[in-house]
Amino acid sequence: MKTVAEVLELLAAEQVAYVDIRFTDPRGTLHHVTLDVDLVDEDFFEEGLMFDGSSIAGWKSIDQSDMKLMPDPSSAYLDPFYAEKTLCLHCSVAEPDTGEPYSRDPRGTAVKAEAWLKASGIGDVAWFGPEAEFFLFDDVRFSVTPQKVAYQVDAVSAAWNTDTSYDMGNQGHRAPFKGGYVPVNPVDDGQDIRSEMLSTLKRIGIKVDKHHHEVATCQHELGTIFGGLVEQADNLQKLKYVIHNVAHAYGKTATFMPKPIKGDNGSGMHVNMSIWKNGKPLFSGDKYADLSQEALWFIGGILRHAKALNALTNPSTNSYKRLVPGFEAPVLRAYSARNRSGAVRIPWTESPKAKRVEARFPDPSANPYLAFSALLMAGLDGIRNKIDPGPASDKDLYDLPPEELAGIPTVCGSLREALDELENDMDFLLAGDVFTRDQLEAYIRLKRGEVEAFEQTPHPIEYAMYFSC
Ligand code: GLN
Ligand code: MG
Ligand code: MG
Ligand code: MG
Repeated sequence: MKTVAEVLELLAAEQVAYVDIRFTDPRGTLHHVTLDVDLVDEDFFEEGLMFDGSSIAGWKSIDQSDMKLMPDPSSAYLDPFYAEKTLCLHCSVAEPDTGEPYSRDPRGTAVKAEAWLKASGIGDVAWFGPEAEFFLFDDVRFSVTPQKVAYQVDAVSAAWNTDTSYDMGNQGHRAPFKGGYVPVNPVDDGQDIRSEMLSTLKRIGIKVDKHHHEVATCQHELGTIFGGLVEQADNLQKLKYVIHNVAHAYGKTATFMPKPIKGDNGSGMHVNMSIWKNGKPLFSGDKYADLSQEALWFIGGILRHAKALNALTNPSTNSYKRLVPGFEAPVLRAYSARNRSGAVRIPWTESPKAKRVEARFPDPSANPYLAFSALLMAGLDGIRNKIDPGPASDKDLYDLPPEELAGIPTVCGSLREALDELENDMDFLLAGDVFTRDQLEAYIRLKRGEVEAFEQTPHPIEYAMYFSC
């Protein structure tokens, strides 16, 4: 956590040449403008940097395009990739005339969500631990595009899973589909890349803990330590930036697309959450799985609002190709301490301090500022309204008989459905003006554009199914 004075000291001590001003748009894309270091003094942090907001999708119209980027000194880090020494600052967005936070700025929403938690009296701090999974393409088998892989996968997985006589040629020890969970190298071909990613994250000030190959072929995960909401959303943007750039340096391509390959696991972004009050963990108690009553209500809020949340935590048309049975991604709105097939899991821990709730449906195509804020708002709504989550589901939810399945509500099946759900269930997000109606309506319009593009484009599989009809 750096102050303005510390950032200015750092600029001098490190002989920094440039300052990179970074901000995140509603879709979650990071943008930047690079300034000569001489422009950055104490006043700069007060005054911010003017920019044209009308060129960012989902923000201002051309006739009211001026906006101000307000750098947050606590987000400062030295860019690990640029040739010239450059300090990066993540920014929130303000109205140029009033200096008020711009209501459609995702980072501003996250700042307001943290303040609302305190104002509600429920807790002092919410801890977030996101786990964004990703794929690295361009290894021997995937020297083709991911799109092509998707169409090869049926034949390939059929061969591995069932037909041992099928000659696939020498696969160079690559992990088979759904067979990639933590083998050593050479089956794990990502060791050096992941180590370099983790070391780079550590160098820019992120607390890291581990890295490993994930279940899908070519799929990976880096582990980082939990932190505050805004801090962790900033860190997720830094993590994606580092992963993309280290991958490029190795001639690879990283993707956080939730389901790049049919028939194999997709990439989730589990979000671990807990609230502390007066220096004590609010989620630890003597109820189910050693949770407190507040934690159960928090889960109740997440499950009640899960379909509206999907629009923010699973905001791509591709997200819903991951949320299908059989790939460790949740479909049902249920919770459990044991199985990983429900929307919410309570990870096992002996320590009351580590007691937390893991939302398993989010994926890394989400804008982290919006997704974390919305999850917190749903959980707080659960606590404020004492929403009972019902009994836990400790069975494997993928194997339930149809009559039991029928009784359990599901997450959304498409982005179209999720946007409709959000349109009809947004009041919990508007509490404390954390999100605004204008912001959510603009977001829904932006995302409906993606739904239309997707629905109106003939899909390659449609040629296979219908071309000869
Ligand atoms: N990839 C799985 C998902 O889509 C999670 C696998 C795991 O981390 N156990 O959520
Ligand atoms: Mg994990
Ligand atoms: Mg994982
Ligand atoms: Mg997890």
